[in-house]
Amino acid sequence: MRKCLAALLAAALLLCLAGCAQQPVQSGTGGLEIVTTVFPAYDFARQIAGERGTVTLLVPPGSESHSYEPTPRDVLRLENCALLFCNGGESEAWLEKILEGRDREIPTLAMLDCVQALEEETVEGMQRVYEEPEEDEGPEYDEHVWTSPANALLICQALCGRLCEADPAGAEVYRANLAAYEEKLEALDRAFREAVADGRRDTVIFADRFPARYFTEEYGLRYYAAFPGCADDAEPSARTVAFLIDKVRQEEIPAVFTIEFSNGKMARVIAEDTGCKILSFHSCHNVSARELEEGVSYLELMENNLRNLKEALA
Ligand SMILES: [Zn+2]
Repeated sequence: MRKCLAALLAAALLLCLAGCAQQPVQSGTGGLEIVTTVFPAYDFARQIAGERGTVTLLVPPGSESHSYEPTPRDVLRLENCALLFCNGGESEAWLEKILEGRDREIPTLAMLDCVQALEEETVEGMQRVYEEPEEDEGPEYDEHVWTSPANALLICQALCGRLCEADPAGAEVYRANLAAYEEKLEALDRAFREAVADGRRDTVIFADRFPARYFTEEYGLRYYAAFPGCADDAEPSARTVAFLIDKVRQEEIPAVFTIEFSNGKMARVIAEDTGCKILSFHSCHNVSARELEEGVSYLELMENNLRNLKEALA
C-alpha cells in the first residue's frame, strides 16, 4: 500500500514537472493584480503590495531574460491586470507587440523610466559583441537599473505611487510597506558606501559580461570587464583575456567576479594564471527556480554581493 502510494506520488510529481513547468510564478493572493516581467520588479512589487496584491512573474526562472517569448496565457494575464510593472528597454521589445492594439490601455510602469538611465559603455579592454547601433536608433541604455540600491529606492517609490492610484483604499498599506522597505534599502546603500570607503582599492574586474554599470557608477568604482551588458553569450578573444590578466597582475586584484548563470570559463583561466579568487556578483536580473522556491530576495542577493565586494576590494 505504502509503495503504491509512493509510486503514485512520484508519477504525480513527474506529471507536474512536465505540465506545471509553464505555470507562471506567483506571490500573494490579494485582489490587486500586478504582472511583472523580471525578478527585481517581481520582488519590489511583492514588498510594496504586500497582502493586497497578487504578483505574477512572466519570464520563467532560470531562462534568458533578454529574449523572452510571451505565451497566450501571459497575454490574458496582462489583459486583466491592474498594473504591468516591467523593465523597459530593448530586451522587452516583445512587450510592445502585446501592448499595441489592445481595447484597454494597460497601465504600465517601467523601471527604466524611474531613474536616470545610463548608456551602455565600452571601457578599455572590453570586447563589443554587436554592431554599433545606427545613428537614428538612439542610444543603447543599460537596463540593469536596479543594481544600484539608490535606484531601487526610486523605483519602489514610483511603484508605490502607482499602486496608490490603482487601489486608493490600500494607500496606507502601500505607504507603510514602502517605508519599511526604504529603511532596508537605505541600510544596504550605506553598507555599500562604507565597504567602498574602507576598501584598499577602487577597481573591480568582471571576468564576464558586465551588468553592474549603475552599481559601479553609484559607488564611484572603476571597472574592467570582458563584455558590456549581460545579454550576449560570446566567447572572449585571447586579447580580452590577456588584458584582464594584465590588469589583475598590475593592480594586484585579489578576486575577479563572475555573474549568475555564467559558465565561469574565463574567470577560471584568469584565476589559474594569476592565483586570484573567483567571486560571484548576482545582477538579480533572473534567479533560478530553486532560488525562487527558497524565497530569495533582492536584499539577500545584494547582501551576498556586499560580502563579496568587501573581499574584492581588500
Ligand atoms: Zn541582464
